[in-house]
Amino acid sequence: MIADKIQKYLGKASWIRKMFEEGAALRKIHGEKNVYDFTLGNPAVEPPEAFHRELRKIAEHPEAGMHRYMSNAGYEETRRAVAEVLSERSSKTVGAGHVIMTCGAGGALNVVLKTILNPGEEIIILSPYFVEYNFYIDNHGGIPCPVATDPETFQPDLAAIEAAISSKTRALIINSPNNPTGVVYPRATLEKLGKLVSRKEQELGRTIFVISDEPYAGIVYDWLEIPSLFDCVRNAVIVTSHSKDLALPGERIGYLAASPEMEDVGKFMEGAVFCNRILGFVNAPALIQRLVTGLQHESVDIGEYQEKRDILYNHLTGLGFRMVKPDGAFYLFPRSPLEDDVEFVKAAQQHRILLVPGTGFGAPGYFRIAYCMEKEMIERSLPAWEDLARNLSLI
Ligand code: PLP
Repeated sequence: MIADKIQKYLGKASWIRKMFEEGAALRKIHGEKNVYDFTLGNPAVEPPEAFHRELRKIAEHPEAGMHRYMSNAGYEETRRAVAEVLSERSSKTVGAGHVIMTCGAGGALNVVLKTILNPGEEIIILSPYFVEYNFYIDNHGGIPCPVATDPETFQPDLAAIEAAISSKTRALIINSPNNPTGVVYPRATLEKLGKLVSRKEQELGRTIFVISDEPYAGIVYDWLEIPSLFDCVRNAVIVTSHSKDLALPGERIGYLAASPEMEDVGKFMEGAVFCNRILGFVNAPALIQRLVTGLQHESVDIGEYQEKRDILYNHLTGLGFRMVKPDGAFYLFPRSPLEDDVEFVKAAQQHRILLVPGTGFGAPGYFRIAYCMEKEMIERSLPAWEDLARNLSLI
């Protein structure tokens, strides 16, 4: 009854959903408090107080026409506020005309891919990856080309990327801070990537975009720098959202921004504004655009995430689990103590710990922990992790 392809995807892409369903069944048997669910990247924290202040301001001072259709790119004032922040974070002058407000980072990625892809062109993604990339690329007739990152550090393997770039490559998607590994790419790596991509563009005589998917850019620890892609890559597009930094995933608000130095940037923006419209988004939600205009320098309490990272990282490494210490986002991606990560996730379930196998991110042999959960649940789970480690003879 539904399309064959979607039927196939429903079977393939359901790790997180499957875990969610199994979690619901376990909760029924053991009770809510005795199941430790680390599967979903849905922040348990509340938006900052400034969000409620802006919300009250809008509700108390409604303006005529504030719920009408608008320019497909979004409100000029909101785009200007975003552009100012992007200019502060880079050495380039970004204008409102380089920004389009979108329905989250997911919406922005779909708009960009729709704008640039011809049928059969390839998009390089770095594994482990956010699984939706595969579907988004397919939505627009592209072909995902996964390239593995370094298995010890999860940093991009530039030689492997170079080898994967072909006469069909249209773009590369990078994601830093990364879901699922939490690693942050340093400036030197992005600069080398920029040089590599321009060399390949010259060699192949075609434009190759680098798309930086960065919804976690506001969640970094120890004051680490998130370099602007605009300083490192010419044909750069930033896609992001306020799903994580302001804890507003349900509000579907994000944006895309093109580098002012992109080749034929005016044409790219014209195409992207049109695609925002024809994908049926039309424009990002009006009310929430107004709201985030004044929140561009706000963020949730990053200290809370860092504390959760430290509790889990210290406990799990103490129990013998091996992992990279993440510098951002809210995920840990340890090595699976069993060769088969799906078997390991099943073993963890016996201890009422719910995880996602690395297989679900194109990286078998690992597992993902999302620690954007209540601190209390994380603390309650610690003895279960110890039992699990003992059962697997790690301690
Ligand atoms: N990209 C990555 C790497 C993500 O982890 C997510 C959400 O979890 C998204 C994009 C989509 O974010 P949004 O809610 O802004 O669409």
